[in-house]
Amino acid sequence: MPEKVVIIGSGPAGWAAAIYAARANLNPLVFEGAITPENNLKGTLPLGQLNLTTEVENYPGFPSGDSRQYLGSALPPDRVPYWVTANKPQPSHGINGPELMELMRQQAINFGTRVTTDDIVKVNFKKHPFVLTASSGDTIETLTTIIATGARANYLGLPSEDKFKNNGVSACAVCDGALPRFRNKPLVVVGGGDSAVEEATYLTKFASVVHLVHRRDELRASRIMQERARTNPKINFKWNRTLSEVLGNEPDGVTGARLKSTTGAKDESVDCSGVFLAIGHTPNTDFLKGQVELEPTGYIRWTQPYRTYTSVEGVVAAGDVADSYYKQAVTAAGSGCMAALDAERWLASQGHH
Ligand code: NAP
Repeated sequence: MPEKVVIIGSGPAGWAAAIYAARANLNPLVFEGAITPENNLKGTLPLGQLNLTTEVENYPGFPSGDSRQYLGSALPPDRVPYWVTANKPQPSHGINGPELMELMRQQAINFGTRVTTDDIVKVNFKKHPFVLTASSGDTIETLTTIIATGARANYLGLPSEDKFKNNGVSACAVCDGALPRFRNKPLVVVGGGDSAVEEATYLTKFASVVHLVHRRDELRASRIMQERARTNPKINFKWNRTLSEVLGNEPDGVTGARLKSTTGAKDESVDCSGVFLAIGHTPNTDFLKGQVELEPTGYIRWTQPYRTYTSVEGVVAAGDVADSYYKQAVTAAGSGCMAALDAERWLASQGHH
């Protein structure tokens, strides 16, 4: 018997879809991704991008407070974060990203969702039931598929960047910025959008100075964010520059950055203990090529306003994999709910209840 609903992905969109599909008695199966070194490097481990963040202050329902007691009672012992049982004092936050994801995952499981810790590496949407292939080699037949594989942070692709990943090179200031190696040291942020400005501003909490390296002389970031950066005395703009090499050595990791001019000026080097990339995201859609219509940017194309339909009937998409615009945890979760309802209605229209 084919599955009724298979959900690929385990961020807020995937778990919201699972909660709704499970409560509609569709017995969903979630492929939450594989725990591999490659996925770790790419930033595509289970629980998605929120699992790489710290506090989430804008997810409705989690105002400031101490969530330890609740987490301890809501999660099975093997998934309770260590600080809950260690009884360590915790800053007064509402929820952090990994906690929120664990809670959503558990909520989905409580309603009967089955979870497989593996990647789907190939899909065949040209036949129905659809056939999905996991990295283990297992194949799964399914009547509908909800794609919620999210997006990952971009890197420039420099060999030196790769070499120092997790040793001073990062694409997530909020995940890594507080590490001791970045404290009271100069740092480099690359990019000119809202992410770059937000990350640079955030990093000024720890750094002695943040060099914001942008390839033009004008930021893409919104006016209010620009203003915040321009008035921050710890942010030093490096206009018309790109990162051409991360400098460093084995024991110390990153020690500097070579910056190339985009206007023909001389190259320069700056000392820094960290390089943060904030140059946009890439949707996790490689395994879908030729199977479902994608935008030129690689995002899945939603084919109707206010619906999660894709170009293939019975395949719906939710969250950042189809949304390069809002990209918020709460919008991803909302579209996950919509995707489950769309899948349920499509199944009903085909006579499956
Ligand atoms: P983005 O707006 O696409 O900006 C990417 C930046 O990286 C651009 O400044 C771009 O330069 C630069 N860039 C891209 N490729 C590069 C390369 N190969 N070398 C050097 N520079 C490169 O991405 P984002 O900042 O991640 O923001 C994405 C979306 O999320 C936006 O809609 C943004 O408003 C939103 N967002 C909002 C907030 C907030 O409101 N708090 C925070 C973060 C993100 P060019 O400008 O020259 O193209």
